[in-house]
Amino acid sequence: MSVTQQQVLDALKQVKTPRGVALVDANVLSAITAGDGKVFFSINVEATEARAWETTRAQAEAAVRAIPGVTLAMIALTAERKAGAAPAAPPPRAAQSTAAGHRPHQHPPGSPMSRQAEIPGISAVIAVASGKGGVGKSTTALNLALGLRDLGLKVGLLDADIYGPSVPRLTGLRDKPALSADRKMVPLERFGLSIMSIGFLIEEDRAMVWRGPMVMQALTQMLREVAWGTLDVLVVDMPPGTGDAQLTLAQNVPLKGAVIVSTPQDLSLIDARRGLAMFRQVNVPVLGIIENMSYFQCPHCGTRSDIFGHGGARHEAEKLGVPFLGEIPLHIEIRTTSDEGKPVVASAPDGPHAAIYRAIASAVRDGLKDAVAAA
Ligand code: ADP
Repeated sequence: MSVTQQQVLDALKQVKTPRGVALVDANVLSAITAGDGKVFFSINVEATEARAWETTRAQAEAAVRAIPGVTLAMIALTAERKAGAAPAAPPPRAAQSTAAGHRPHQHPPGSPMSRQAEIPGISAVIAVASGKGGVGKSTTALNLALGLRDLGLKVGLLDADIYGPSVPRLTGLRDKPALSADRKMVPLERFGLSIMSIGFLIEEDRAMVWRGPMVMQALTQMLREVAWGTLDVLVVDMPPGTGDAQLTLAQNVPLKGAVIVSTPQDLSLIDARRGLAMFRQVNVPVLGIIENMSYFQCPHCGTRSDIFGHGGARHEAEKLGVPFLGEIPLHIEIRTTSDEGKPVVASAPDGPHAAIYRAIASAVRDGLKDAVAAA
């Protein structure tokens, strides 16, 4: 049974904000995604007011759940702390300018992303996603970030894989981030990248129990309450899968593009297709598909064996009309360097694997230019 945005808005009319006005008139709602009985949106308020808004959020969720046909309602409270005094009602996000002087990226009216603010100082945020875990998404995200660095870009990496942050292991970083004078978290620096991970803040096993709205709140903080400085690109290592948490994330993070990592096996290609559909649903340009563990490369003689029915991702990308960004072999050097906290692009910059990641980075950079030009 499908549910319309209008039904959701009608149900929300009865919900009041802490300011006493109706929620639908308070200029705080993101666009609403409704369909297949699943409803998602966020309420954007000032961080200082967030506690007071929790009752409103809960009432909104209850009102939406009561609509016949709604099977899932997920409403996140997103808060962003702004410098200076908090205005009672923030102006529409699309009209705000950023500290770095960039014109905000505008999504079409009604798009789930139309109310997102860019992050001051960051020119482009891109997501690295995969349909399922274990395909090498995090390894690819880190080496891709290093490849972009090698192209002369200033790059940050945000490990948003809240259910199993692996960036501490992949980089060897374990320190807790310091706080800056304006109480922002200072990202850790390694390999010339600015790096932030939920794994720096909490124990890995605690991250497992996080629920949707909490994930969004933690993520919003990691995006907006971190002293990222000026970056050309922030690479976001997304949680694996294409479930509700990922969709909410894709809606709430101001993404310029997404990269999908897949292995050649059929199953993960099906999952990759879901990933593609998810980003299309929220109007994020898909920069392309990377085939990881594409073929086996013998560590002794260098011979290549296509043990997984290689070429599936390239073929799939052609069929789906998205760029194919490149293929990365299954190679012991990639695994050991990754697991020792010395990613291959940093530890063997002149080797063949670093060259592959750099070529992919270059394709991503070019795709990003096109996506930004087309926006
Ligand atoms: P995900 O983020 O998708 O869960 P990871 O990046 O953590 O996956 O990778 C899972 C495992 O696969 C890790 O041990 C990693 O070192 C290994 N791995 C990733 N890519 C490759 C590759 N191209 N060749 C060999 N091992 C790889």
